[in-house]
Amino acid sequence: MTQKRALVLGGGGFIGGHLVKRLKSQGYWVRSVDLKEHLYFANPDEFVLGDLRSFDFTKSVLDLSNGEVFDEVYQLAADMGGAGYIFSGENDATVMHNSSQINLNVLDAIKGLTLDSGKSPTVFYSSSACIYPEEKQLDTENRGLKEEDAYPANPDSDYGWEKLFSERLYFAYSRNFGIPVRVARFHNIFGPEGTWDGGKEKAPAAICRKVANAQEGAHIEIWGDGNQTRSFLFIDECLDAIQNFMVSNFQGPINIGSEELVSINDLAHIAMSFENKNLAIMNIAGPQGVRGRNSDNSLVRAKLGWDYKLSLEEGLKITYFWIRDQLQKKA
Ligand code: NAD
Repeated sequence: MTQKRALVLGGGGFIGGHLVKRLKSQGYWVRSVDLKEHLYFANPDEFVLGDLRSFDFTKSVLDLSNGEVFDEVYQLAADMGGAGYIFSGENDATVMHNSSQINLNVLDAIKGLTLDSGKSPTVFYSSSACIYPEEKQLDTENRGLKEEDAYPANPDSDYGWEKLFSERLYFAYSRNFGIPVRVARFHNIFGPEGTWDGGKEKAPAAICRKVANAQEGAHIEIWGDGNQTRSFLFIDECLDAIQNFMVSNFQGPINIGSEELVSINDLAHIAMSFENKNLAIMNIAGPQGVRGRNSDNSLVRAKLGWDYKLSLEEGLKITYFWIRDQLQKKA
């Protein structure tokens, strides 16, 4: 059997880095592309440092020479971060510009390859639960968002609007130029070997860091009243879903998430339980996003036979002790 070749765009990031590691362990030849190398592991066959906002650069990394094309392309590169980055308002233009330019470049480069060679890779695109309309997420008891809930559209952030535009871009290029695409909407992916400080970290990592750092009897700060709810999916399960999706015949869009809804205050209580820490929660003003968001996995169960299995507590425990180790190494 010939060795499969995969291109991971955004391979220096959290999900991309884990994906590179997974594909390598399965015998793929992998090229990873990013503005930065992965902080914790770097094991692609080839790492190319560069900026996917440049069309010429994007075209060059998609090229395997000799008229060959990658079997699989994973487009995970995006200008993104946690609530502090996405909802502050200060990064809206940059986020929209950078991410849509990357997606336009990727699709135009693949279109060129497809027209020249008559072959096309299967292209995975990572959209987000942030595309869902704000008015369907006003209640902490969110019943779970179905894929069809996306329209009429009204995402609560420009990050979400860009993702929705790019979803449509992938489907349009698929229809008009025969590029096979797989579009998934991730719901808060978390785990070890990801950003855990510096301002771009997400709630699970930020909370684990705050709890691991706090002395007994101290308090930790949580943005908003902490009753806002979300579901969180552990990274290994996200990779399982992506891989099931790639070998399916379904194009999406499809939710990849967990249905275990938790408030942010309760997320902090779970993190405290790992070392029996008794910390007060101080709820302070800060960006919180929508009031309640959960995944409805009916479609992903039916189409891919995939569902989340790991409890939030199990996944968070792995993440917590990994972040505690990082803090100890830094001390
Ligand atoms: P991440 O920020 O860790 O990874 C994204 C990577 O893209 C980064 O390493 C970054 O350097 C790279 N990148 C950004 N601009 C680039 C450019 N111009 N050229 C080359 N590389 C560039 O994020 P992640 O958590 O790994 O997310 C991966 C994808 O999944 C993103 O598209 C994100 O929007 C999407 N997503 C993630 C989540 C989540 O919970 N992590 C949820 C929904 C959607």
